[in-house]
Amino acid sequence: MKLIIFVYALLLGSFLNVVGLRIPAKQSIVKPRSACPTCGKTLTFVELIPVLSYVIQSGKCKHCKTSISPFYPLMELTTACLFVFAYSKIGWSFELIIAWTLITLLVIIFITDIKFMLIPDKILFFFAFVFIGERLIYPLQPWWDSIAGAALIFMMLLIIAILSKGGMGGGDIKLYTVLGIVLGTKLVLVSFFFANILGAIAGLIGMAIGIFEKRKPIPFGPFIAIATLIAYFYHDELFAWYQSLFY
Ligand SMILES: [Zn+2]
Repeated sequence: MKLIIFVYALLLGSFLNVVGLRIPAKQSIVKPRSACPTCGKTLTFVELIPVLSYVIQSGKCKHCKTSISPFYPLMELTTACLFVFAYSKIGWSFELIIAWTLITLLVIIFITDIKFMLIPDKILFFFAFVFIGERLIYPLQPWWDSIAGAALIFMMLLIIAILSKGGMGGGDIKLYTVLGIVLGTKLVLVSFFFANILGAIAGLIGMAIGIFEKRKPIPFGPFIAIATLIAYFYHDELFAWYQSLFY
């Protein structure tokens, strides 16, 4: 079973690369077929096989020998690993569908925010509808925690954005509002807490080794994505650990 999920998620991951690269550029996600960005040669069926084609061609375009970024096969592998992980953690339940939807959104955001510093509204709208539908079928306890979570994080980030005069991007606020539907109040706060810690650590390391320049904004979406996965999958462990600190 895990193998089937893994292979399926690899294919999905390769589609998510296409979505993540084309939606921000306002291109269609079905046409034209994927091509090498350097020589423009349309990729054959074999070259479209996720990860494997990258390994076989040793990371180069077959026609012009330009190196292909390992970012894409890495995103495919990450998608596949997360899908299998979600299955082994949750098992067969409607919540698994929600987990897979969540991973799908976060992978797309990870790509668009790193590549374009952008979280597209189109993507957020689409997933907001899907999540609302899914949480109607399989609600949080209590059911209104979805609404409370979305409203709370929206208000909180709006205040932060106003006080910090744009220190918080509009895309990040909208993304968190959508995530509030899935996570509810408690977990969306946990996610925001971790996103800030991760962002601060990465910012310090980045400045120390000179990847990021001071005062130049770095995309926050990737940290939101990682923090949300931690909050969603490890909340039981986190809350148990948190309580053990006081008892
Ligand atoms: Zn090429």
